[in-house]
Amino acid sequence: MVNNLNYYLKQAREKKYALGHFNFATADVLRGIVEASKDAGAPAVMVGTSEGESSFVGLKEAVALVKIIREEYDFPVFLNADHFKSFEKCKEAIDAGYDSVIADLSKKTFADNVAETKSVVEYAKSVNPDILVEGELGYLKGSSQVQTKVEITPDDFTKPEEAKEFIEKTGVNQLATVFGNIHGIVTEQEEKLDIEHFKKVVAAVPDVFYVLHGASGLLDDDVRAAIKAGVTNVHFNTELRVAYTEGIHKTFHDKPNETTPYKYLKPGVDEMKKVVAQKIKLFMGE
Ligand SMILES: [Zn+2]
Repeated sequence: MVNNLNYYLKQAREKKYALGHFNFATADVLRGIVEASKDAGAPAVMVGTSEGESSFVGLKEAVALVKIIREEYDFPVFLNADHFKSFEKCKEAIDAGYDSVIADLSKKTFADNVAETKSVVEYAKSVNPDILVEGELGYLKGSSQVQTKVEITPDDFTKPEEAKEFIEKTGVNQLATVFGNIHGIVTEQEEKLDIEHFKKVVAAVPDVFYVLHGASGLLDDDVRAAIKAGVTNVHFNTELRVAYTEGIHKTFHDKPNETTPYKYLKPGVDEMKKVVAQKIKLFMGE
């Protein structure tokens, strides 16, 4: 791969589109994400494993799978440690060969978040300057599932002046920002972004890459507006999980005795690929 992740994010910022970030825990899902992203015309894609997903697939296995798939598809795929919750966990991912890590320490005090995130940045850069570190500020609520309701108030939002201080002190490359987004899908409430609030954060610190988490459940127009305002990376997870699971359910509904894994998993992958393709088009402004 000729260009690093920083290069692709810069391109996205200049041209006002966003790279997709999708999670996987199995090889079929990884391959489906990459195929769909490439076919839909994405310049590159980020794939992520949460702590849970990475312990299922294996950190080194994830790195090896991504390396092979990059070569096989001749397409830039970057592997991200998604919401790793301590210096130690981030270090494990960096040592295994991940391209980027999210040091998710936003539930700690501001001072502790700064100190521990800074250690992750320093460690990552000492191993390989191309590794990007994402920090998180603000309280990103919810989990990557379908939930009924998640209370969120402007108090949970990322504060512009804190963002500035945080980025100056830690040296992170990317920032997970909270401005109305919630992890997962909520069924009994409208999930709405406060774009004006986000613009204030960007104005305070213009030269960091902004990441929108929890995009499942948001209106397309909100996602478009966020990208226009400066988001260069959008995380979609729950909608993919739902599509994958529904595809598999359908097989077992139609063929309850099917026991061949590649036969009952493939409809799940096919459903998920449709969602990835739709999202890529949205991120590219189509
Ligand atoms: Zn997230």
